[in-house]
Amino acid sequence: MKRDIEIAQEAAIEPIVEIAKRLNVSADDLELYGKYKAKLPLSLIDEDKVKKAKLILVSAISPTPAGEGKTTTSIGLAMAMNKIGKQTAVVLREPSLGPVFGIKGGATGGGYSQVIPMEDINLHFTGDFAAVEKAHNLLAALIDNNLQSKKHNLNLDPRTIAWKRVMDMNDRSLRDTVIGLGGTANGVPRETGFDITAASEVMAILCLSKNIADLKEKLGNIFVGFTFDGKPIYARDLNAHGAMAALLKDAIKPNLVQTLEGTPALIHGGPFANIAQGTNTLVATKMGMSLSDYVVTEAGFGFDLGGEKFLDIKAKYAGLSPVAVVLVATTRALKYHGGLSLKEVGSSNVEALKKGLENLEKHIENAKLFNITPVVAINKFTNDTPEDMAAIVEVCKRHGVMAYEANVWAEGGNGALELAKAVVEIAEACNTQFQPLYDWNESIENKISTISTRIYGADGVDYQPKAKSALKKIASLGLNHLPVCMAKTQKSLSDNPNMLGRPKNFTITVRDIEIAAGAGFVVPITGEMMRMPGLPEEPASNNIDIDSNGNISGLF
Ligand code: ADP
Ligand code: MG
Repeated sequence: MKRDIEIAQEAAIEPIVEIAKRLNVSADDLELYGKYKAKLPLSLIDEDKVKKAKLILVSAISPTPAGEGKTTTSIGLAMAMNKIGKQTAVVLREPSLGPVFGIKGGATGGGYSQVIPMEDINLHFTGDFAAVEKAHNLLAALIDNNLQSKKHNLNLDPRTIAWKRVMDMNDRSLRDTVIGLGGTANGVPRETGFDITAASEVMAILCLSKNIADLKEKLGNIFVGFTFDGKPIYARDLNAHGAMAALLKDAIKPNLVQTLEGTPALIHGGPFANIAQGTNTLVATKMGMSLSDYVVTEAGFGFDLGGEKFLDIKAKYAGLSPVAVVLVATTRALKYHGGLSLKEVGSSNVEALKKGLENLEKHIENAKLFNITPVVAINKFTNDTPEDMAAIVEVCKRHGVMAYEANVWAEGGNGALELAKAVVEIAEACNTQFQPLYDWNESIENKISTISTRIYGADGVDYQPKAKSALKKIASLGLNHLPVCMAKTQKSLSDNPNMLGRPKNFTITVRDIEIAAGAGFVVPITGEMMRMPGLPEEPASNNIDIDSNGNISGLF
C-alpha cells in the first residue's frame, strides 16, 4: 500500500493557472504563491452567484480513534460530483503545524482523495497561520505595553486579562507562564500563557469576517479585561484593530489549490473545532460559491459540534443555507461505539456494529431538527464486509435516509459516483432553508439548554459558580444576544468522553463561559478544554525529513 505522500508526489499536478480557468478566473486575478498555489482577491465574491450556488455540508458521527474520514470523503465527493458533470469546488480548513508534528502528520485527506501540494499545505502553506499569530501577539504586546505606560495607561487590572499569546506548535511547557520579570524596565509581572494559533480568537474572527471592514470591527470588539474600577476594555481602546487587520491583509484572501484529480480546492482558515467554530473562512465558502455551482465543505468533528455550530453560527452570520448534509460513518467507528476495542474493530462483528449505530441514529435525528434530511456516506475501509454495509443501510432506511458506500480513499472520485448522484438529487430537490435550532435573542441559558437537551440528549444543564458569574458578566457587557459556541468533547454526544454510542440520563456541566466578543459568540466550557496540546512520546516529526533535492518525506 502506498503512503499518502507517495500518492501525492506521484500525481500529475497542474499549474494553478489551469485550475483557476476551471473557475473562470483569469491568471491576472490570481495572486500567485509559486506555481501551484494562489490567493484569490475578495473582489471575486459575487453575492448573486452565492445565492444560486448549492452548498453541501459534510459532517460525521462522533469521532473515535478508529477514524471517520470527513476530509477524505469531502475531497472524494467533490471529485465525484465533477465526474458526473457538476461543477464543484471543495472548501476546507488549513492544517495547523502542531498536529502535523504531533500525532496527525497531515490533514489534507488520504489515499486517492487528497489536496496537493500536500507538503506545502501541511507546512506553512501561504503563511496565514503566521499572520494570525502575529496579529494576536501584537494585541498581547500592546496590552503589556499599556500596563507599563505612563501617559496612556488605561488602568487595566492585570488579573482580569484573558488574552494570552499564541504559537502554532504543540508545546505544553508554554501553557502557563510568568512574564514581565526583571525589574521596572521589563514590564509588569503577571501570570499568562500560550495557546496554539488555531485556538486564537483572531483565527475565529478571520473565519467569520465578511470583508476587511468587518474584520477590523470584529478585531476592535475583542474583550481584553476590566479596569480596576470595573470598566470593560476592548482591543479598540488600545487602538489595536487597525494594525492587527493590516497584518491580516493577505491572510483574509482564500487560497486556491487542487485535488489529485484537478478539482479546485479552497483551503482557508483553521479554527479549533472544540472551542471555536471548526470550519474554514466564511469568505472561502462564499468564494467557492461565487466561482462554482456546487461547494462541498467540512465542519469539524461530529454533527453535534461541527454541524450545529456551522448552522447556528456560521450559516446564520453568512446568510447561507446548505442544501444537503452528508454524515460520514465508518464500520470501524460504529463498532467502536458498539463497545469493541481498537484492536477488534478491523474484523466483522455485525452485533457490535448494530449497537454502535445508535450514535449515527442520533446524528441523523439531529440533522432533522434543522429541517435537513441527511445522506449517509460510509467511508469504506479495505476489510469492510457486505454484511456490515447492509446493516448500516437498513438502519438508515428506517429513518428515511439513504446511505451510500464512499470508496474514495482507494478509488478517488470514481469511488463515490452513487453518493454524488444522490447528493445532487437532494440538492436540486431542496427548496427550503434550514431551521435554526434556537433564536439568538433567547437568553444564554436557554440557548445552552436547547443545544444540550435537543442535540446532546441531556436531561438538563448544571452551572458551576464560575459559569454563573460569567452569565452575569455577559449580561452586564450587553452580550446576551450572541450565539453560543459550545466547548465540549468531540468523543461523546455528552460532555463525558467515555460515554460512547447514544448516552442517556446525563446532565451537561458548564464550568465557565468565555467571551469571544470579537468573533461574536460566547463559549460555554464543559470538561477540560485543550488550547495548547503537547507532543506525544513519539512525535510525528520523528519521521519527517527533507533530502538534498528538497523532497519532503514522512508526512502521512
Ligand atoms: P477527519 O477529517 O474526519 O479528521 P481525515 O479525512 O483527515 O478524517 O482522515 C483521517 C485519516 O484516516 C487520514 O490519515 C486518512 O488517510 C485516513 N483514512 C480516511 N479514510 C480512510 C479509508 N477509507 N481507508 C484508510 N484510511 C483512511
Ligand atoms: Mg478533517
